Amino acid sequence: MKQAIFVPYDQLNRGHGAMRDADPATHEVVMIQSEHLLRSRPWHAQRLFFILASAAHFRQELQDEGFTVHHLHARTITAGFEQYRRDHPGHSIIAAAASSIPQQRLLESSGIVIVPGDFFLTGRDEFAAWAAGRSTLLMENFYRWQRTRLGILLMDDGKPVGGQWNFDADNRLPPPKKPHTWPHVIEHPLDEIDSGIWADITAADLDLAGHEPDGTWATTRAGALRQLDHFLEHAFADFGAYEDAMPSDSWAVNHSLLSPYLNIGLLHPSEVVDAALARFERGGIPISSCEGFIRQIIGWREYINGVYWIFGDEYRAMNGLAADRPLLPLFEDSTRTQMNCVATTIGDLEARAWAHHIPRLMILANLALITGVEPAAFLDWMRRMFIDAADWVMVPNVIGMGVHADGGRMMTKPYAAGGAYISRMGNYCGGCAYNPKLRTGPTACPFTTLYWDFLDRNRPAFERNHRMAQQVRGLDRLSDLPELRERAQEVLAGLSDGTI
Ligand SMILES: Cc1cc2nc3c(=O)[nH]c(=O)nc-3n(C[C@H](O)[C@H](O)[C@H](O)COP(=O)(O)OP(=O)(O)OC[C@H]3O[C@@H](n4cnc5c(N)ncnc54)[C@H](O)[C@@H]3O)c2cc1C
Repeated sequence: MKQAIFVPYDQLNRGHGAMRDADPATHEVVMIQSEHLLRSRPWHAQRLFFILASAAHFRQELQDEGFTVHHLHARTITAGFEQYRRDHPGHSIIAAAASSIPQQRLLESSGIVIVPGDFFLTGRDEFAAWAAGRSTLLMENFYRWQRTRLGILLMDDGKPVGGQWNFDADNRLPPPKKPHTWPHVIEHPLDEIDSGIWADITAADLDLAGHEPDGTWATTRAGALRQLDHFLEHAFADFGAYEDAMPSDSWAVNHSLLSPYLNIGLLHPSEVVDAALARFERGGIPISSCEGFIRQIIGWREYINGVYWIFGDEYRAMNGLAADRPLLPLFEDSTRTQMNCVATTIGDLEARAWAHHIPRLMILANLALITGVEPAAFLDWMRRMFIDAADWVMVPNVIGMGVHADGGRMMTKPYAAGGAYISRMGNYCGGCAYNPKLRTGPTACPFTTLYWDFLDRNRPAFERNHRMAQQVRGLDRLSDLPELRERAQEVLAGLSDGTI
């Protein structure tokens, strides 16, 4: 009797998780396509395609290796387990620890034997031990602990390579003023398996948003590795410099585009780190770029996963600022706004389900924060629209970092900003109907008006926060606060109607 291994669609890795020591002679694989998952919520077409097509390729690779793969179509995952057990009496099922709290609960309640997951560099217990007894969970402290523990970019005496832990001061340039050639983006043309999956999706009459798959995203490990190589050869060197830039002539800038592959198991963070360090050793990569990228992988990514498990399931429902505005129509349709930065970012999302961290944080989440959109509605929308939207990563990034709904548990201050930041870091403002320098009047940038209005509305929540005190005191210097409040009401109404 073979041991059954349940492989969820976000653990598509032969060398990690429950598949690590599997052998076709002694193990067989169970994968389940849940009808409930497909139909219970809307999907960005490319995200759903990416998940199903990557799972189909992985199944094929396992079969080529000699594994029996039971691919079950069931109403729910639980119903799939029941079906397998009915057909294979006496077989037990093992699975690696799940990537999300709801999924973990489901495995536990279904009597699955759970083996440790190793899809991260930091175990949940290790992170909990690091966090224990700390009054604040600062990412920078975690990152330095992580660098030291893992021995990454350290000199013999334990000091950081380059003499600094953090090169932010050298990074984060705005888009260059002169013509600039951005790294080209590679395509991953759809193969026969992909086309079959897309045909099934279109035949299934699902609630889909966004454009259809166009080869932006690979659906195989080979494609993911090609993307990694491409990044290291063509974009890595300037990764740090343009990490925060929002040029209108490049959607990918110098970003790696690796998050979807890391989040469903096609790549493991350790191989991404090893490849980046090996490329750095070969020369031509500034330490500021290498450190900046390593920080994202061993710092931010691991930190976000760590806090997700510490904060628990109630965290997703937090609404510390009592924000209750329904989702703005512009989020559902990029033509429902005249704000150039917002329309472009949401247009990019519709086209390829991706935007880099600054449009996510400083355009989309900032807009939701300062307009007071209900956090749960915004979280649902973000989860729908992004190619890399796993629960563990969306929940803290949106609820904690993006809309500050957690009362400051994760970030000590909200990432609220006016039009000046977007104007400095991007070049959308030139062609926009609104002026980032104005806070009142019909052509005032909604970000600028609403930034001040947000501080005004939430003054009691922030005036005793030492990191916000200066910004809040800025309100007292505004001679036009009454007009600003009036304009803010017009802007909020216009955004809710889809006319601003
Ligand atoms: C509001 C908001 C929502 C986000 N939602 C997601 C999400 O659903 N899925 C997701 O993978 N990332 C999310 N991020 C983090 C980050 O924006 C993306 O990981 C990144 O833009 C993916 O593109 P990339 O692979 O080119 O990243 P790069 O800029 O090349 O960075 C390299 C890698 O670092 C990791 N990373 C960097 N920042 C973070 C972070 N804050 N949290 C976790 N990992 C990070 C990612 O794995 C990424 O692939 C979110 C950030 C914000 C502010």
